[in-house]
Amino acid sequence: MTQHPIAANGRGYLAIPGPSVMPDAVLQAMHRPSPNIYDGELLEMTATLIPDLKRVARTKGKCAIYIGNGHAAWEASLSNVLSEGDRVLAPITGLFGHGWADMARGLGVEVDVLDFGKQSPMDMALITHALKEDTDHQIKAVLAVHVDTSSSIRNDFTALRRAIDDAGHPALLMADCIASLGCDQFEMDEWGVDVMLAACQKGLMVPAGVSFVFFNEKAEAVRNAMPRVSRYWDWVPRGAPEQFWQYFNGTAPTHHLFGLRAALDIIHDESIEKVWARHAVLARAIWAACDAWGQVGSLKMNVAEAQNRSNAVTSLSLASPDGTRLREWVETNIGLTLGIGLGMGGEGERSSDGFFRFGHMGHVNGQMIMGLLGGVETGLTALNIEHGTGALEAAAAVIAKG
Ligand SMILES: *Cc1c(COP(=O)(O)O)cnc(C)c1O
Repeated sequence: MTQHPIAANGRGYLAIPGPSVMPDAVLQAMHRPSPNIYDGELLEMTATLIPDLKRVARTKGKCAIYIGNGHAAWEASLSNVLSEGDRVLAPITGLFGHGWADMARGLGVEVDVLDFGKQSPMDMALITHALKEDTDHQIKAVLAVHVDTSSSIRNDFTALRRAIDDAGHPALLMADCIASLGCDQFEMDEWGVDVMLAACQKGLMVPAGVSFVFFNEKAEAVRNAMPRVSRYWDWVPRGAPEQFWQYFNGTAPTHHLFGLRAALDIIHDESIEKVWARHAVLARAIWAACDAWGQVGSLKMNVAEAQNRSNAVTSLSLASPDGTRLREWVETNIGLTLGIGLGMGGEGERSSDGFFRFGHMGHVNGQMIMGLLGGVETGLTALNIEHGTGALEAAAAVIAKG
């Protein structure tokens, strides 16, 4: 017999790590008839997106837009600088690192994997060592995920840059910032990142479907020396279009562009520094609550040290099958949707009963995070899952102090 949900009606919170919550201004900007793609407002508006995207990415490099999700940006970034038979180094801290590496293998690229597991960040000394061993500089690129959304590990890119420089190695540094852009601080130029990719449905608050590859002059030179690049993924015309259609190699993703315009306005009205600071305080509130819950029972954050955690997503474990029971209870009864555990179980396993995630990326504020935490507290109570007390007080204290 099915039971009635206790208190589910009302505006829900999709607290999964992408797609993220969409601002009403983004939805309203998209709610319109199709525009002319040959003349007029759309053409002028699209040109304004590029400098504002580069301000979020903190780069003076170029930006190519693709109609496609993050996986498309993975393939686009690789296709411009790597040919069949080339070699790359992939330091991996979760499922998404494996995914990008596998995308490279699909293009005939040889991948040297350095797997650091699912609970600690990259060990930079091992990366320097691997690059030093490559005395004839066969490795063309280092593929590194900034925030791996499965484990919620955040890697230190200033340290990674230093690790590559310490080896005196010329490989391109390529960063996946799909989860982190517009959430965790990222400084593409200052941190010496050559290629960076992102998608629009996480920190950028737009429905999935558009992604971005940013690249600097060093990466451009590598692209220009390529024997061949597939026409569709080629970033040259997209990064410096002479005609409007070249931005997208065909019809523009019209409504996504209007949504993105609204989202970038929201980000820059707040300022990217304040966006990072907001994510940081909300993340600390979440961690304070998790620490309190974890005093008793089995709930635990996946990443032990705060400095290695993302401000956009938190991966947690709870004795199996309580993680799944908790997710199902809060979704059914109080309108709160948590993220499934992803890639945290045994080898090759995509999801796992003992794991779940909080998405706290993009359009989120203090009352939403307190609602998320209050919702989890309610679920733990309803299901008699053992947990420590004082979680909400601890989180409130963090936000109150700012
Ligand atoms: C979400 C995500 C991806 C995949 O993006 P899709 O849009 O689902 O293809 C890749 N890498 C990271 C770090 C992500 O968070």
